[in-house]
Amino acid sequence: MTLREQFEKAGIPNAGYNVRMADYTTFRIGGPADVMVRPANRDELFKVFRFCKENGLRFFFLGNGSNLLVSDEGYRGVVICPEGDFCKIEVNGYDISAGCAVSMAQVAQAALQAELAGFEFASGIPGSFGGGIYMNAGAYEKEMADVLSCIDYMDEEGFHRIGPDQARLGYRTSRFMTSGGIVLGGVIHLQPGTREEISAEMKDLAERRRSKQPLEYPSAGSMFKRPQGYYAGKLIQDAGLAGFSVGGAQVSEKHCGFVINTGNASCRDVRHLVQLVAEKVDDVFGVVLEPEVRYLGPEGLEPLLEERIIDH
Ligand SMILES: Cc1cc2nc3c(=O)[nH]c(=O)nc-3n(C[C@H](O)[C@H](O)[C@H](O)COP(=O)(O)OP(=O)(O)OC[C@H]3O[C@@H](n4cnc5c(N)ncnc54)[C@H](O)[C@@H]3O)c2cc1C
Repeated sequence: MTLREQFEKAGIPNAGYNVRMADYTTFRIGGPADVMVRPANRDELFKVFRFCKENGLRFFFLGNGSNLLVSDEGYRGVVICPEGDFCKIEVNGYDISAGCAVSMAQVAQAALQAELAGFEFASGIPGSFGGGIYMNAGAYEKEMADVLSCIDYMDEEGFHRIGPDQARLGYRTSRFMTSGGIVLGGVIHLQPGTREEISAEMKDLAERRRSKQPLEYPSAGSMFKRPQGYYAGKLIQDAGLAGFSVGGAQVSEKHCGFVINTGNASCRDVRHLVQLVAEKVDDVFGVVLEPEVRYLGPEGLEPLLEERIIDH
């Protein structure tokens, strides 16, 4: 039986086949995924999840694809990309609860409308709320861990609600990276503010991003995590790699921490470039750069760099 027949027989709605992942990543890179399913509520999500497990199918949970590099061969499995109920957002007093598919910008807008301060830092992060929790996204000295009061997630055993302490949120990491689990949404707790102040702060941060980041090109944001005591972008610049390119992938001259797609970059171009950059920085400064961007290969998440750097 083909995958399509299997899905149709199981009555799983909203499934597409041979879906080009380049259309679902901010890098605009990636070959076809065998299947993409768009569950609209918890029941549909759980059904897909169980179906994949029972049939030994690989699956990958997609947010907004803003921290993701997908292989040119695509993904031999099922990409789960939520919609419907997962796009809901609600303000209750000083709390905002949002589903995983709500964008960080939408949450920031809701906070502004409700005159709640404390989420301005995330207004320019182009990911989903669920992806933000999973990555413990952050900017300008603040991160999701500072504002979250609870997180809803799902695993094989069912649905759970936990506090931020139980989510093991660290620098661009969470328990979901190691223990699995799909983040369904969460609640953030903010402080009263004024519309003028919140709006001014958001505008200021947006301007700082525009002036420092190559937002005019497709990318996945900062390619590397910040090594302790250094800035990845500065090390790359000081190694003389500004503008260095492989095929259509280039180290941004505006911000060396970003790798940009100048038009027709393949995943192979990006990986090759990132490998060379990491090796050069290691050679020149003895600093090991760890990728922040996640690499989805044909068989699932894999290390973006080859061994020389990883096993350092
Ligand atoms: C121009 C630009 C600027 C950026 N600036 C910042 C910044 O300032 N700070 C920052 O932290 N990041 C930044 N990023 C990176 C990115 O936006 C964040 O990492 C974001 O949190 C990723 O969310 P996403 O929904 O796009 O996740 P995706 O890229 O779709 O997925 C990333 C990982 O999260 C997992 N995932 C996503 N959603 C869920 C879920 N609901 N449950 C379980 N797993 C999930 C995926 O499986 C994958 O492993 C930037 C990116 C770009 C392109």
